[in-house]
Amino acid sequence: MSQTRAQKSTVHVALFPSSGMGHLTPFLRLAASLAAEEDVRVTFIAAHPTVSLAESHALSSFFTSFPQVIPKQLCLLPLNESSSDTDDPFYRHYEAICASCCLLPPLLSSVSPPLSALITDMSLLSAVLPISRAINLPNYVFFTSSARMLTLFMSFHRIFVAKAMPGSQDNEDVIEIPYQEPIPVSWFPPPLLEEEDNFLKNSLTQNGKSMIDADGILINTFHEFEQDTLTELNSTKMPRGLPPAIAIGLLPPANFGESHSHPSAWLGDQPVGSVIYVSFGSRTAMSREQIRELGVGLVRSGVRFVWMVKSKKVDQEDTEDLEDVIGQNLAMATSGGAANGIAVKRWLNQSEILGHPAIGGFLSHCGWNSVTEAVWHGVPMLAWPQHGDQKINASLVRRAGIGIWEESWGWGERDAVKGVEIAERLAEMMRDEWLKARAATMKEAARAALGLGGLKALLAEMRPSGARLDG
Ligand code: UDP
Ligand code: UDP
Repeated sequence: MSQTRAQKSTVHVALFPSSGMGHLTPFLRLAASLAAEEDVRVTFIAAHPTVSLAESHALSSFFTSFPQVIPKQLCLLPLNESSSDTDDPFYRHYEAICASCCLLPPLLSSVSPPLSALITDMSLLSAVLPISRAINLPNYVFFTSSARMLTLFMSFHRIFVAKAMPGSQDNEDVIEIPYQEPIPVSWFPPPLLEEEDNFLKNSLTQNGKSMIDADGILINTFHEFEQDTLTELNSTKMPRGLPPAIAIGLLPPANFGESHSHPSAWLGDQPVGSVIYVSFGSRTAMSREQIRELGVGLVRSGVRFVWMVKSKKVDQEDTEDLEDVIGQNLAMATSGGAANGIAVKRWLNQSEILGHPAIGGFLSHCGWNSVTEAVWHGVPMLAWPQHGDQKINASLVRRAGIGIWEESWGWGERDAVKGVEIAERLAEMMRDEWLKARAATMKEAARAALGLGGLKALLAEMRPSGARLDG
């Protein structure tokens, strides 16, 4: 009898992320949180092969740490390259995953006990929904960016169809988002403003439209950080039938992957809160000119730094020596401790570094995972968005009072920002006591929100006889 009761109350969730560390990392964190719950089984579906080495390292290290999570591989079908409308390796990989979703049905039905629900990456939703619907499997979406970005994601297809984009309305400096706060045109990911069709526009249109058919939308955020947007998203003003937007964060930012690469010896010798960590995430390749100007700015600022240098989008192509990228003099000065910081050209465990007591600031592109890690560790930010959703995320950092954002720097790949300007902003951010205090307050709020909200309610809904969620 007791075994039957236990089997009945067990929830079995399958997770299915898209390509890139920006998507895989929050899915792994979600899997870790779910696996820690009683009576929850987790199956993790990972596309094989991965696009970057960082992803394959993270997956193998995760499955070693969580043997109770069931690994499933979706072996990718070859992609017809001539029909692709992007040359971004991460987007190509994402297209290959979408095209291989036809392999999901036998995989989903082969797991035991039978699945209670599937949690799908927002960029795979339109490919996966017909499959989950056909087998009556509840399908939740994990939106791996901010709630504010979600408002654009869900509305883009309507704005676009209504021809409200700036190409058709000159001199508009904001774009109305139905039922939400308008978003300045300059914060839109640039491909969305192009006249021509492109990969990002198509992806947002299809997946944004599909959101209405999801059972719920999970977001790695918390109420104190995105209160207004979360309230609006779940308000009765929203068109009927929209699934609840569920704040499940912040998920504790464990990093799975290489952990040996931590410059702890150098960091351990630095005063508390004195070092800025500089990184633009896992897939931003800055121009050579911009990298050199950044190096000049870091040295000139006099602020201590740890700089993760990256010159290619995909890690296995990032084979140049550090000195070829930043120049011999700077490479020598920043490897031996002669300069005010160190530069490395390899994967670093970012979340671990941000949690080091010596770290007092973060120069970041504002990928959503980076923002959540900075908030979790109470580290003030200098935001320098490079592409995609990052200006929208930077606006949240600024609004929360935990960072500064020099909007005139624009997107990456434009005219290089000069080192002297970078130095000024770095120094300004590091001496700002107000930012420090706000970041400390937000850190406390993030930790207090842990375990309060979304995940438990979500699991309750997934159990047989579960109650409906209302966000
Ligand atoms: N990351 C890391 N070490 C690196 C580069 C990136 O640990 O050297 C992690 C970072 O902590 C974050 C993720 O990779 O969790 C990158 O995601 P994010 O959303 O910040 O940006 P993206 O890489 O997608 O642009
Ligand atoms: N996005 C999407 N489908 C994709 C990739 C991205 O709908 O395959 C959306 C998503 O909302 C993301 C935004 O476009 O936050 C900007 O994408 P970016 O180029 O930064 O890529 P990401 O790191 O999110 O994959």
